[in-house]
Amino acid sequence: MRITEIIKSNKPSLSFEVFPPKTSDKFDTVQEAVEKIAVLKPSFMSVTYGAGGGTSEYTLSIAKNIQEKHGVTALAHLTCVNSTKEEVRARLEMLKSSGIENILALRGDITPENQNREKWDYHYANELVEEIKGLYDFCIGGACYPECHPESEHQKEDILNLKRKIDAGCEFLTTQMFFDNNVLYNYLYKIREAGITVPIIAGIMPVTNAKQIKRSCELSNCTLPQRFKAILDRYGDNPEAMKQAGIAYATEQIIDLYANGINAVHVYSMNKPDVAEKIQANISEIIK
Ligand code: FAD
Repeated sequence: MRITEIIKSNKPSLSFEVFPPKTSDKFDTVQEAVEKIAVLKPSFMSVTYGAGGGTSEYTLSIAKNIQEKHGVTALAHLTCVNSTKEEVRARLEMLKSSGIENILALRGDITPENQNREKWDYHYANELVEEIKGLYDFCIGGACYPECHPESEHQKEDILNLKRKIDAGCEFLTTQMFFDNNVLYNYLYKIREAGITVPIIAGIMPVTNAKQIKRSCELSNCTLPQRFKAILDRYGDNPEAMKQAGIAYATEQIIDLYANGINAVHVYSMNKPDVAEKIQANISEIIK
């Protein structure tokens, strides 16, 4: 089923994200975790893609398994940085022939290994969206950044660039994590004003590791509100307490989003079935 069909109803949707293993020896462990999450029958599941394409075949096989074995719609991520047109087209063909209907079209991060721009066939996600749109009838989504992408100097510029992605055929957007819902509400106002009317799926990160989140917030421009910093300071050294507090905080964010009319929530469940399960249980009556 197309993601746009899934999220268009008034019923709240709850979806989960998983990531493929980096090496083949971890495949079975990851697959086992993915299956435990799929059993929860979320609205859909997304499977990330390694920026350099290193885990590309795992993204496909995990997405395929989610759909075929569990009957859960899969959203396969695809990045284009450092890829040739031939590689992208071959990947699209494989996704299509495997029955995948939904793609999250991304540029991918620029790293020391892939900085040689002369080798790139695509420079930004809007070019990948255009390519996919011209070849197949996938339901295409993209990423958006309520606190601005780190490479953009101003949010205005970032939103103008986001509009290019929409104009190229992107049909929905999933947000970067955020820890203060007002950040999303303000952002929504700005993007709607810029003429971006596609559905927005709110990306929520249940924090279970204090060190990791501090680092990834620094890299990705996400602000940690004082209320959340206090939780990290108090429970960061106690993994079980941190997990409980992180799940409670994410649950509260999700309930507030639904209450304010954001019907689609995507949880960065990071291959942790227990986290996905607890969040789903916490809002079981709300998503009925
Ligand atoms: P773009 O939309 O291309 O934007 C990147 C930057 O370029 C922005 O600053 C933007 O304003 C600017 N820009 C965009 N278009 C233009 C243009 N035409 N001209 C000039 N400037 C432009 N990474 C992975 O490797 N694998 C994943 O599976 C993955 N999944 C993700 C899922 C979500 C929901 C999110 C939010 C991010 C994900 N990422 C993933 C990370 C993502 O690849 C990085 O954030 C990357 O740096 C930007 O990707 P993008 O598709 O948003 O890029």
